[in-house]
Amino acid sequence: MTDATPMPSSDDTLASRLAALRARMAAACARAGRPAGDVTLLPVSKTFGVDRIREAAGLGLTRFGENKTQEIRQKAGPLADLGLQWVLIGHLQTNKAKEAARDAAEVQSLDRLELAEALQRRLDLQGRVIDALVQVKTSAEDSKSGLAPAELPTFLRAVARDYPALRIKGLMTLAVNSDDPQAVRACFRQLRELRDQMRGEGIANVELNRLSMGMSGDFELAIEEGSTEIRVGSALFGARQYPA
Ligand SMILES: *Cc1c(COP(=O)(O)O)cnc(C)c1O
Repeated sequence: MTDATPMPSSDDTLASRLAALRARMAAACARAGRPAGDVTLLPVSKTFGVDRIREAAGLGLTRFGENKTQEIRQKAGPLADLGLQWVLIGHLQTNKAKEAARDAAEVQSLDRLELAEALQRRLDLQGRVIDALVQVKTSAEDSKSGLAPAELPTFLRAVARDYPALRIKGLMTLAVNSDDPQAVRACFRQLRELRDQMRGEGIANVELNRLSMGMSGDFELAIEEGSTEIRVGSALFGARQYPA
């Protein structure tokens, strides 16, 4: 039997992409002198359908990053049998706090007191407590949200004091979108240094063990700069197609 159509590469499966990603993560850890288990992977499933997520869950992935509450809602129903955890990583409007408090296991984009207040109120009503990371703006790009670094100590103290339904576990950032690795690295380094400074302040009830930084295009630099969690979409699931 001959067929001129090339077979799709047998290597291009979700399982093989996950294995390749884990190998790159381990190599970056080794370069940084860190144990491979230091860095966890948060697969980012935004725009990808429930079948892909189910396939990823079959490979052992249990937490998924999404940037819209509506999208979590749409996916959580059909996937309810898997007991997955949904992590909000996108800018969260205050008027979506109700949905976030109901469906998210964790919010990584906490960036203002108004949002903390709204989440606290909704979480209280649900009798829930969730983990949160504070998103910090480490680049000057207007398109990126996040708290200004100088506001961090006051912010952390306020959340720890007034919003106990949010357990602060660390910091999150998006690096500048740049071809210059030094510029990207500087964003990650700034987040780590801020974390170290904040630890020095010893704020009660605030744990800063986690640094969520690094995406498909820059996770190796992030790992070298101390990331504990990378948020990877396209390097795992393939290119995203946004609806027109
Ligand atoms: C989409 C997204 C990611 C993943 O992006 P990739 O480049 O596809 O890996 C990570 N973090 C945030 C906040 C995102 O919105």
